Amino acid sequence: MSESMRGNRLGATSYEVDKGISAARQLTTYVCPQAHHTTLPFALEADEIPDTWRCACGLMGTRWGQAMHEQPVARQTRSHWDMLLERRSIAELEALLKERLDLIRGSEKRSA
Ligand SMILES: [Zn+2]
Repeated sequence: MSESMRGNRLGATSYEVDKGISAARQLTTYVCPQAHHTTLPFALEADEIPDTWRCACGLMGTRWGQAMHEQPVARQTRSHWDMLLERRSIAELEALLKERLDLIRGSEKRSA
């Protein structure tokens, strides 16, 4: 691959299929948190196929087949509830809830 082509690749963001290039391509698919699929043809020589690609919806897609737990996308798909449960058991949450309710009821009594 010539230096001029490398320069084009870095500068172009559309990655449109150029009929003048006969190099073999691999299709790389990106999946965004909204489950949109974006498939782009990259030359097989492309040594730097990006791991992420911004989806048309504006969210960052993750390269298909990547270990999802290594990507920030995976963290976005976890709800606050999921994260809470990773740190606290249901019993702990119930105890915390009771504690908070007692506090609220106590302050209500004081202000009444
Ligand atoms: Zn999307």
